[in-house]
Amino acid sequence: MKIPFNKPYLSGNETKYIEDAVKSGKISGNGKYTQQCQAFFEKRYNIKKTLLTTSCTDALEMAAILINIQPGDEVIMPSYTFVSTANAFVLRGAKIIFADSRENHPNIDETKIESLITEKTKAIVPVHYAGISCEMDTIMDLAKKYNLYVIEDAAQAIDSYYTDREGARKPLGTIGDLAAFSFHETKNIISGEGGLLAINNEKFIVRAEIIWEKGTNRSSFFRGEVDKYGWVDIGSSFLPSEIVAAFLWAQLENLEQIQTVRKTHWEKYYNNLYDWAQSNEIELPNVPTYATNNAHMFYLVCKDLEQRTTVLEYLKQNEILAVFHYISLHESPFYREKHCGNTLTQSDKFTDQLLRLPLYYEVDTDEVIKKLKQLWK
Ligand SMILES: *Cc1c(COP(=O)(O)O)cnc(C)c1O
Repeated sequence: MKIPFNKPYLSGNETKYIEDAVKSGKISGNGKYTQQCQAFFEKRYNIKKTLLTTSCTDALEMAAILINIQPGDEVIMPSYTFVSTANAFVLRGAKIIFADSRENHPNIDETKIESLITEKTKAIVPVHYAGISCEMDTIMDLAKKYNLYVIEDAAQAIDSYYTDREGARKPLGTIGDLAAFSFHETKNIISGEGGLLAINNEKFIVRAEIIWEKGTNRSSFFRGEVDKYGWVDIGSSFLPSEIVAAFLWAQLENLEQIQTVRKTHWEKYYNNLYDWAQSNEIELPNVPTYATNNAHMFYLVCKDLEQRTTVLEYLKQNEILAVFHYISLHESPFYREKHCGNTLTQSDKFTDQLLRLPLYYEVDTDEVIKKLKQLWK
């Protein structure tokens, strides 16, 4: 492929910091680099407490444990999302209730949530698709009215913001009780595999650290708060090694630059494809006025499945790898039978019609744009 779908960007200091971690003799978790990365998020986005995890999937699993999901509890989320959003709660016995996407965006349609709430509902999980915020005022109001937790799947949402109805600008991942970020190599800021749990509701801070450290109070022991440590709760090994954290630190140091370059690519796609998209009945990404764009993804919504297949195959013949995205989870082999049956027209539309163009630090957008314009006027 001349233009792959993704290419991990290296800022230059990754191997230097990894070498430093290795030479320091401390390569297990929760060392200097882990703490630097956590402090970066806590300061920059004003988050009460963060914990680095081995993936966003793990951060979501921690969230499900923290809110005490029990068998039979219901969790509301969009169907158009990654499996981990649902799996984390299914592992604890929850029943997933899927809500439809908005008409003009894959994000959960906030107006469709209230009718899905029952006695058993425990949480709402908004997913900020493509780093674009869900309409959080409505979601937070519902959570308050029905006493539900909100867990933001902020896997794609680093350095993106939501402006609430009072005009306050809030970083994504700081609005719900808990939030999960991803540093998978396909995201804006990467560590190969990696994630972060953001804890905004203070009542979860102490227990989160215990769950993170295999159900032990090891962290308080090392701070000298208790004189021996032991098994005090359920938990797992959710923390990454210092080698991963060292890599991540080299990326975080370059966050501003990475974001600037990605945004330039995104704008170029948008401006240069605007007329072309209109004349071919293709929709370009919609950024609501309350949301910022962190240039995680550039996608097209084709007029139908046939048109999408044509574009994908044409680009592939021209050595450009574009891809479609999620098969909505209510249509998945694992959950189809368990799905409660509501029709999810918009979710289905994005399953069939959404196409992602290559977007990474070194992408040649000119080439992709040129080729698309040669396909149709
Ligand atoms: C990438 C992604 C995840 C999973 O992240 P990992 O770090 O790979 O576990 C979860 N949810 C969404 C919406 C994602 O895009």
